[in-house]
Amino acid sequence: MPANSVDRAGNTAAFRAEIVDFVGDPAMLGDAALRHHADGLLVVRGGKVANAGPAVALLPTLPRDTPVVDYRGKLILPGFVDTHLHYAQTDIIASYGAQLLEWLERYTFAEEARFADPIHAAEVAGFFVQELLRNGTTTALVFATTHATSVEAIFAAAEAESMRLIAGKVLTDRHVPEAVRDTADGGYEASKALIGRWHGRGRLGYAVTPRFAPASTERQLELCGRLLDEHPGVFLQSHVAENRNEIAWVAELFPWSRSYLDVYDHYGLLRERAVYAHCIHLDATDRGRMAATGAAMAFCPTSNLFLGSGLFDAQAAREAGVRVGIGTDVGGGTSFSMLRTLDEAYKVSQLAGQKLSPLRAFYLATLGGAASLYLDDRIGNFDAGKEADFVVLDPAATPLLVRRLARAETLVERLFALMVLGDDRAIYATHVLGRAAWARDHHLSRS
Ligand SMILES: [Zn+2]
Repeated sequence: MPANSVDRAGNTAAFRAEIVDFVGDPAMLGDAALRHHADGLLVVRGGKVANAGPAVALLPTLPRDTPVVDYRGKLILPGFVDTHLHYAQTDIIASYGAQLLEWLERYTFAEEARFADPIHAAEVAGFFVQELLRNGTTTALVFATTHATSVEAIFAAAEAESMRLIAGKVLTDRHVPEAVRDTADGGYEASKALIGRWHGRGRLGYAVTPRFAPASTERQLELCGRLLDEHPGVFLQSHVAENRNEIAWVAELFPWSRSYLDVYDHYGLLRERAVYAHCIHLDATDRGRMAATGAAMAFCPTSNLFLGSGLFDAQAAREAGVRVGIGTDVGGGTSFSMLRTLDEAYKVSQLAGQKLSPLRAFYLATLGGAASLYLDDRIGNFDAGKEADFVVLDPAATPLLVRRLARAETLVERLFALMVLGDDRAIYATHVLGRAAWARDHHLSRS
């Protein structure tokens, strides 16, 4: 497999295909946000993008003996960025018949209790990372469980693939079973130790991870703010305004709060590198606070439909100027596939009376997600110097795609058909730092 011939120590390799990436948000810039080379070449040197442009112009400039991987007939896009999911919920995906609070009680807590066992955690983490790669996802923001062992396992699995992955230990010191509960001070100390061990190691990052406001005491939320203040550059991930019963519960527990989001604001947890999943039942003041503080929203359509939570308002988020990424939210979400998730995002937008264009959808799954993590200086498109994480999409993955795409006349039409009809079968290969970390027809291969 020539795709494996990339030498990460510094040699050059090139990949020939149709190349698509974005320089900004198509909702703001229109077609000027798109870069497209129908017969393109992506040149990678030392795991980073050296150049991307028309093949006819770049081929003659390559050093002699540069391997050129021929992906003609396929599309190369930046690797997908999944801004919200739970690796420890891999095995409870597709569990029947509950909305959020009952779903946590009935399925989630018992499953997460198993991650005190490092052997179990390592086995699930290994599967999870392969599943991300198999679906074209090269960067993810991931919940572990309350156990430090679970964090060790997911970081070790990501590190083995040189993946850019951010994760954290769940902080929750009330209203959950003892097997998944910590204490405010114990959780603070454990998080501090994990930050010291993992944050900034290779491509890994740490996220302070309160599960959600109703499962933390005020003391614990205070200590979350302290962890962020003491460790600049560390991320925060949590949930907000997902389900109406959850919101009513928050109002009871924090009677002084103006809104659910206001609880996090009160403890200084709205800031850059803070990502909140769902953000469904927010008002204009909430959205204004997120924009002003630089916090981001993770739009998780499959989860929001599956758990019957509600419809995310992408237009209001955009008009307020809030950063937005896409999250699969496995296991409340129903697929690891970003293509399946974009399809559902389109349908959620339809139900909200809005149109999610295919260009904006793929922007959100790549550069938009990177920007919501403040990583758009390193990943998200093919600017020279960025890390060469990319996905190779196969527009002929299924008989139906072949038929539909035969009728498509424009790139936009083809991208739309790929996100509506595509799934893991359409992921031909996934490259991490130039290396083929996943190849559909060759299974997993390593250089
Ligand atoms: Zn979640």
